[in-house]
Amino acid sequence: LFLEHPMAAGQTLPLAKEQAHYLFGVMRLAAGDRLPVFNGQDGEWIAEVAEAGKRGGSLTCLEQSAPLRLPPDLWLAFAPIKKERTDFITEKATELGAARIIPVQTDFTNSARVNRDRLQAHAVEAAEQCGGTFVPEVAGMTRLGEFLDACGAQRQIMFCDETLTGETVPARQVLAEAGRGPWAVLIGPEGGFSQEERDKLHALPFAHPVSLGPRILRADTAAVAALTLWQDVLGD
Ligand code: SAM
Repeated sequence: LFLEHPMAAGQTLPLAKEQAHYLFGVMRLAAGDRLPVFNGQDGEWIAEVAEAGKRGGSLTCLEQSAPLRLPPDLWLAFAPIKKERTDFITEKATELGAARIIPVQTDFTNSARVNRDRLQAHAVEAAEQCGGTFVPEVAGMTRLGEFLDACGAQRQIMFCDETLTGETVPARQVLAEAGRGPWAVLIGPEGGFSQEERDKLHALPFAHPVSLGPRILRADTAAVAALTLWQDVLGD
């Protein structure tokens, strides 16, 4: 269970109404029962139910059961698509170990806004589900240019360009040759990148254009494929 409280032995962790409902109504836990909890910073802790109420309650933090496991320094930047698919991308990026998730506004981005709280909640749920101790931060909508400035020369970009053909250097080789360090995966919108954006990205020395194969993937599939490939070649 994710709780936004500092964790230390003996610390009382108050529960919000929805958390109490989930633990005591859905999971049927009662006073004295134990469960793992994390806050994204202090690793995983074992907590004991101190007070179980219908509208609230509290846990007592007992001992740390696992240290904080930080993912590699990998960002996922993607142009948001339909709501459900954007939720899906956030969930899968969390499971696949992205450290930061950045919705980017490109020339052809379908939606100009994202509900950041909703996406952050999806990241929390995904981290809970996959036993993670870390939750990636979901950034607000960021213009492509700002994202590129934030990468600067310090962060390499795996620029997923569907216009590349299968004859180009295989993505695995591009990643292996570029080597470890901070990275970002960049996925375009349904309409792809504009020619101007593509030219700019191809001219950046720290952006590495890669093909994900001969078929055009949907943006959510492309995000999952690119993160998997990156983790396979450069992940821990
Ligand atoms: N512009 C394309 C079109 O309308 O034919 C479709 C863009 S695709 C749905 C969305 C994004 O997924 C692309 O901008 C790219 O970042 C990524 N993508 C999809 N297939 C890819 C591939 N085979 N290689 C590299 N990137 C791919």
